[in-house]
Amino acid sequence: MTTAFYSHPDCRAHDMGRGHPECPQRLDAIHDHLIATGLAQALEMHDAPLATLAQIERAHSAGFVGELRSAIEPLAASGEHVALDPDTSAGPGTWNAVLRGAGAALAATDAVIDGHAVNAFCAVRPPGHHATRDQAMGFCFFNNVAVAARHALDVRGLERVAIIDFDVHHGNGTEDIIAGDDRVLMASFFQHPLYPYSGSVPKGTNMVNVPIAPYSRGDVVRSAISDMWLPRLEAFKPQMLFVSAGFDAHREDELGQLGLVEADYAWITRRLVDLAERHAKGRIVSCLEGGYNLSALARSVAAHLRVLAGLA
Ligand SMILES: [Zn+2]
Repeated sequence: MTTAFYSHPDCRAHDMGRGHPECPQRLDAIHDHLIATGLAQALEMHDAPLATLAQIERAHSAGFVGELRSAIEPLAASGEHVALDPDTSAGPGTWNAVLRGAGAALAATDAVIDGHAVNAFCAVRPPGHHATRDQAMGFCFFNNVAVAARHALDVRGLERVAIIDFDVHHGNGTEDIIAGDDRVLMASFFQHPLYPYSGSVPKGTNMVNVPIAPYSRGDVVRSAISDMWLPRLEAFKPQMLFVSAGFDAHREDELGQLGLVEADYAWITRRLVDLAERHAKGRIVSCLEGGYNLSALARSVAAHLRVLAGLA
């Protein structure tokens, strides 16, 4: 059984301008590092398909999907850029990148449920966890992980899935979509206070939100995961795990002030693999969210993948 890896050249073509931290070079750094370390050879590489609007509308309102499409699909022909919020803009390559991101998560979900891979990682951009049911924000357009989780539940017939979010920022969009959906348990930690300044008061009883003080290191995060996430996840017995894998809690990342290192990402991943092996036949679909220091991002993704692929 293998670890599948989904990406697509279209995910590079979304460009929010010179100096923007959510840049195409993030994916280049990951790909280059996987090749240089030989890790690429241990993965089964796939091109991500385009998601359909019906698939996206399992997590987003049809009104929002239609509005976003009208705003950004024509940019491919016009070559123009439009700002959606002060940090988030769309350009000629954005619409297809967005559909590939959700399409990667969906294809990975099918591959894992069908037993073609034991788990999967989606190296995609733009990220998704700030996208709410009705709004694009914080570098995010559609919520790839929420779209995939709803596909597993509504289309593939699973009854319980977990969403794990270890990005340094609170996954407010995912919470907005799945709070109150008791088929999903979402466990996250995030620096608080930090953008988007939400999460300290969970929006539903199916949320395990763990705010972490700035300048905390991996020991604090590991204790919080052991004490707050794992008992709830064990009791929930998820049939599949979806991961919002942001690597911006790394100590070299300037968008947050936490002090995680590669060994912490490997430790977190090991806990998730163990949980998935106990309850979920090992099934994990992990999707890239943040991570903006290119070197730290590539090293951290490799640490995550080595554990997923059974190499560490
Ligand atoms: Zn982030």
